[in-house]
Amino acid sequence: MNLYKNLFTGNIHSIETFGTFDGPGVRYVLFLQGCPFQCQYCHNRDTWSTEENKRMTVDEVLHDFERYSHFYKNGGITVSGGEALLQIGFITELFKKAKERNIHTCLDTSAGCYSDKQIEAYKNLLAHTDLVLLDIKHIDEDEHIKLTKSSNQNVLKFAKLLSDLKVETVIRHVLLPTINDQEIYLKRLRDFLDQLSNIKKIEVLAYHKKGIAKWKAMGLKYELEHIEEPTDQMVKKAQMILTNNYHFAK
Ligand code: SF4
Repeated sequence: MNLYKNLFTGNIHSIETFGTFDGPGVRYVLFLQGCPFQCQYCHNRDTWSTEENKRMTVDEVLHDFERYSHFYKNGGITVSGGEALLQIGFITELFKKAKERNIHTCLDTSAGCYSDKQIEAYKNLLAHTDLVLLDIKHIDEDEHIKLTKSSNQNVLKFAKLLSDLKVETVIRHVLLPTINDQEIYLKRLRDFLDQLSNIKKIEVLAYHKKGIAKWKAMGLKYELEHIEEPTDQMVKKAQMILTNNYHFAK
């Protein structure tokens, strides 16, 4: 794949102009089209296809951002997906120009398409990225493949790269009862996170079923219909395993 194809235009799924969930403050959130994972619980099922959707240039995005800039004093721009890194050339140009204007930049990713072979392109992007929200879906390779139809090796390598480069990172973990909420998996995830030195926060997010409607509207079977959403207590327990006495980056 040519990472620098379409350097100045992005294939956009949708835009949220008042985002308060994906990064600090109020943010302009760009959801990009395309994802290499096929998560069984995906709540954005309509982002998977890489077919052309809405095309926008870097300058058009920044111009759109400026229209609402008075909202974003403590926020900035977040690029999410789908999988944002599929369009790394576009994001790099966007973040480079955003930083020239002192705009805070945040990348929300599951890092499924990371490859060591393109490490220079990733380093170039990260040089202009203030914060990464990294979603780790399952620490166990086989279970990760069952859940997403892909390996987690690139995700873990990307996490280590972020640590080596000291990029501020928030880890996100969607808690799925009977799939990744077992203590043995949470402790393994914690062992992995203990090796990293750049983590600002670890967030356990409760799995929810809000995405089912999209699967049904697309005529697709939702395999996890039998899985219940976790209780608050389950989320708190997982949060404790992952964060108790954790050495967060200052
Ligand atoms: S990584 Fe995100 S967008 Fe892609 S399939 Fe998984 S949940 Fe959906």
